[in-house]
Amino acid sequence: MVKENLEEVRKRILNACKRAGRNPEEVTLIAVSKTKPADMITEAYSSGVRDFGENKVQELTEKCLILPEDIRWHMIGHLQRNKVKQVVDKAALIHSVDSLRLAEQIEEEAAKKNMAADILLEVNVAEEESKYGFKLEDTETAIREIATFPHVKIKGLMTIAPFVENPEENRPIFKKLNQFYVDMQRKNIDNVNMTVLSMGMTGDYEVAIEEGATLVRVGTGIFGTRYYMNT
Ligand SMILES: *Cc1c(COP(=O)(O)O)cnc(C)c1O
Repeated sequence: MVKENLEEVRKRILNACKRAGRNPEEVTLIAVSKTKPADMITEAYSSGVRDFGENKVQELTEKCLILPEDIRWHMIGHLQRNKVKQVVDKAALIHSVDSLRLAEQIEEEAAKKNMAADILLEVNVAEEESKYGFKLEDTETAIREIATFPHVKIKGLMTIAPFVENPEENRPIFKKLNQFYVDMQRKNIDNVNMTVLSMGMTGDYEVAIEEGATLVRVGTGIFGTRYYMNT
């Protein structure tokens, strides 16, 4: 089932690129494997997926231990500062940097490990109360501050758009973040190399690609519905 779903998602990505006149090589699919077992991840891996997304530190580190080494693990969920230590050298990219304090913690732990951590700033474009992330109007200030941290590399921006019935409703959100992203690229801030725009999930990734996404995070569309245990 995973294989067939992947074929469908890839086809849709290609079509969205075609509609937008974009080179499909600009868009990378992240298979969001949270709550899903290793054998399903292996199935996606066998179909060529190398980028997987997890939203919990423990789950990411456990899967990282048992699955192939060439997988790039993306930390996409809210990250608590006391867990940075465990994930900073396991995640290829941390998408969910939503505060200066978190970025400072990443700087500290990356320095200890003598590495540079690649991050995205999470932007709460729709200003939803329930969501983490910088307000768009505060993001440039945050970028300029974090850009001075020697062990943190800002690669771009991430957003989680609202849950909507019709993905077209999220087009203005994606458009707005892309405009800001391009604006930041033009400002050429030292130590910032903005090349990543992470937006779009199962319900809206095609619209996100049309509006400039370079990373799309698709879970349900590949692995099916998630079931959560009551723990
Ligand atoms: C779970 C999750 C996704 C994937 O959601 P689907 O709707 O299943 O594709 C994408 N991004 C983030 C941040 C998530 O937590």
